[in-house]
Amino acid sequence: SQGVYEALVEEARRIGLDSPVKFQARCSGCHGFCEEGPLVVCGMGDSEVLYRKVRREDALEILLALADDRVVERLLYRDGREVYREERHIPFYALQRRKVLERCGKVDPRDVDHYISLGGYASLARALSMSPEEVIDWVTRAGLRGRGGGGFPAGQKWASCRSASGPQKFVLANGDEGDPGAFMDRSLMEGDPHSILEGMIIGAHAVGASKGFIYVRDEYPLAVENLAHAIREARRLGLLGRRILGSDLSFDVDICRGGGAFVCGESSALMASIEGRPGEPRVKYIRSTERGLWECPTVLNNVETWANVPIIIREGVDGYRSLGTKDSPGTKVFSLVGKVRRSGLVEVPMGTTLREIIFEIGGGVMGRNRFKAVQTGGPSGGCLPESKLDLPVDFDRLTREGSMMGSGGMIVMDHRSCMVDVARYFVKFLEGESCGKCAPCREGLKAMGEILEDLCSRRGRPGDVEMLLFMGNALTDTALCGLGQTAANPVLSTLRHFMEEYREHQDQGF
Ligand code: SF4
Repeated sequence: SQGVYEALVEEARRIGLDSPVKFQARCSGCHGFCEEGPLVVCGMGDSEVLYRKVRREDALEILLALADDRVVERLLYRDGREVYREERHIPFYALQRRKVLERCGKVDPRDVDHYISLGGYASLARALSMSPEEVIDWVTRAGLRGRGGGGFPAGQKWASCRSASGPQKFVLANGDEGDPGAFMDRSLMEGDPHSILEGMIIGAHAVGASKGFIYVRDEYPLAVENLAHAIREARRLGLLGRRILGSDLSFDVDICRGGGAFVCGESSALMASIEGRPGEPRVKYIRSTERGLWECPTVLNNVETWANVPIIIREGVDGYRSLGTKDSPGTKVFSLVGKVRRSGLVEVPMGTTLREIIFEIGGGVMGRNRFKAVQTGGPSGGCLPESKLDLPVDFDRLTREGSMMGSGGMIVMDHRSCMVDVARYFVKFLEGESCGKCAPCREGLKAMGEILEDLCSRRGRPGDVEMLLFMGNALTDTALCGLGQTAANPVLSTLRHFMEEYREHQDQGF
């Protein structure tokens, strides 16, 4: 994409189209349709054309067409597949409702003025004219739930922090996305960092915080770079620092780079890591909204949750609740990957069915293969079979079926995938990521991993399946933190929906 962007700028200069009146090129973050990249969105008058799989050598033709106010037919028809003109006509985008990702792929993440010209920071100005209690009331009545996986009501968390006393209060953004196959938070941090900052500043006003941290995994260098740039620009414009926009609010944000440990996505481990201690979870007998970072009242939300806040302030409670379900209002971003025809970043109203996401947006399973399962919720989520495709996706329905929303990873598998092997992969992943502090997780995952290894290499024994079930339930009940408490989900959900495969593997062993 960078090469295509450079070619467009270079060609524009060469043919004298480089005056800003005639032509402007902007390098944006991810536009979501990863399968078809590099993408070029061309604005012509009132309409927009989306070119896909663009090559450097297409740059001149695109520019000449732009100058003539026409589209490049050769590119639209390149491989005889769907004709792409406007985004809304593309099946991948047709069912989506892009709210959080509204500007992602269009706004220049390195240009705060561009963000402002697209309506950015208007919600902050409005929120600062409201009392903190009013802002919390809006977030509560809008029904915003934590997008990091837990689905905890954000307004409740904020109210608890607001009423807690302490020498200082903090707001934190969790950008420590570590699930295999997930890249929602990454795209948001890279593509629209100001939307996260805006949400955090509104949150700071609501709870009375003076300092914030964005915890980003170190494997996301572009996210770190774009967030750092956004923070510098926000400071320059007085959107961070003392007396923000002339109000009484003084608030600043810094970035904290994680070391890549999956467990640091867990709230208490994340705070320990920011404090400079080993990223290990602790027993949560006191809520972090009362005693969190450095023992001070703290609100921690995932980056996508923060990016929802300006939308609530802009659209009001009823506007926000007009999408989604009664108990899970709004939209959710998913990264749709695996054996699906059209993979990418998808944002849909809560309550959209798995079938609509996988078959209508994603185009179904690749090649002539049959759908077998979808794994939602990352390594701690669960695998759901074809019979669950009409399940509306929201926090509660997925949990009831033994899976979870998680942060939004969605991996599609076809009939060739072995579900015992899938469970083995995730258990091994989590075994490697367990911090080892408590025995059920440290020893339980190891023992379950060994049984799964044996089953996959035809060394299964009678009773293996029952032992997996017993250990999985014991781990769920006794592990110290969320990582361990949900680590058995891939095993328990595949045992629930694909028991015959486990039996087959077990019988092959003797
Ligand atoms: Fe560490 Fe696992 Fe125990 Fe969590 S459940 S504290 S990750 S050993």
